[in-house]
Amino acid sequence: MNVPQSQPGSRLDNYVDRYAARTAGMTASEVRALFAVASRPEVVSLAGGMPNINALPLDAVADTVARLVVERGTVALQYGSGQGDETLRGQICEVMRLEGIEAHPDDITVTVGSQQALDLVTRIFIDPGDVILAEAPSYVGALSTFASYQADVVHVGMDEDGLVPEHLENAIAAVRASGRRIKFLYTIPNFHNPMGVCLSPERRGRILEICRAADVLVIEDNPYGLLGFDNEPMRALRADDAEGVVYLGSFSKTFAPGLRVGWAVAPHAVREKLVLAAEASVLSPPVFSQMTVSAYLETQPWRAQIKNYREMYRERRDAMLDALRTYMPEGTTWTNPTGGFFVWVTLPAGLDAKAMLPRAVTARVAYVPGTAFYADGFGASSMRLSFCYPTPERIREGVRRLAGVITQELELRTMFGTPQSQTPPAASPTTLAPGPDLA
Ligand code: PMP
Repeated sequence: MNVPQSQPGSRLDNYVDRYAARTAGMTASEVRALFAVASRPEVVSLAGGMPNINALPLDAVADTVARLVVERGTVALQYGSGQGDETLRGQICEVMRLEGIEAHPDDITVTVGSQQALDLVTRIFIDPGDVILAEAPSYVGALSTFASYQADVVHVGMDEDGLVPEHLENAIAAVRASGRRIKFLYTIPNFHNPMGVCLSPERRGRILEICRAADVLVIEDNPYGLLGFDNEPMRALRADDAEGVVYLGSFSKTFAPGLRVGWAVAPHAVREKLVLAAEASVLSPPVFSQMTVSAYLETQPWRAQIKNYREMYRERRDAMLDALRTYMPEGTTWTNPTGGFFVWVTLPAGLDAKAMLPRAVTARVAYVPGTAFYADGFGASSMRLSFCYPTPERIREGVRRLAGVITQELELRTMFGTPQSQTPPAASPTTLAPGPDLA
């Protein structure tokens, strides 16, 4: 195909100055070119966050889909309700009961993945310059949505127990003192992307209390909540504050991401706006996908399938933590996830994960540098490793290669003394468009 190229002075150049101001924050990931190389079979990619649907019983899914088309095809292939299929909304209430949430099907808006729920929530609340509080680090896909609505993201510090309540109080006070308005707190309390940690039960009430007192709405993003390896699912924030929390859920990690079915649970007035925004965006969420999920939940042992997923991810998490302990040089630290997909690794002082990435890819291992998860240019000393996709053997080999690269960097630093830790964050950082490779 003949694709027109933009030559200097060509008509295509004119479009650039027509773009809306909000597109300024939409930039392709600078590491995407490297990921093209990283997708070669010889490279162990610890970068992508793709659910490992090899564990899905495809024959049973095929059966479910075939019956859906034959028996209910004229409904499944038609436009549907802007709020989403009513039967599915009832089933979503049942799924959320596992996390202590008592909701009514009317409270739920079905969306095209929870990514669209994030987009809709941001669209209805954010004017350019409004402040969103988000964990430091935070989900790259949320940051790119926030950037596309020209929000001002203020990061709040985390530790191994999740968001730190004192940091939240300080951030709220600082934003208030600067005369700006906080529209909401965006948080991922369970098996955080990218840190892998959970908000401790003791902190949950405190975070809700602080937000209630400061009149800050909480957006609770919880795609990994049912993927804990050891214990029962944690109690959702929404379970303890139906008025103050908008909860986002997804079938991407518990069933299949290609169906693109997620949801938002919101207080009544917010829900009405969400549905109007959704209708303006997609008319209705895909009926075929919704009915597939609904039939799957009704006819297949979905709880057992989630258990299979958990066991598969636990084995991979074990392989990664074991390899980190075995191979990483002194001074490297990492989180200990008890569920989800990710480990957050922090390099020995002075090393820069972004600068190191090309050398890692040459050594046939890839990861996502920490800077992708900050709106303000920080995070260079850390990286996200995902254990969800490669086999345990490949994970071990990937970590071994990565440890080799880090050890080499340390040797170079000893020889040449490069003070990379003093590299300041970029003056005007851009938020990266995530793309499926970063999700
Ligand atoms: N939130 C978080 C924290 C995620 O990690 C992801 C996907 N990786 C999403 C939302 C979006 O998921 P989906 O649109 O597939 O439901």
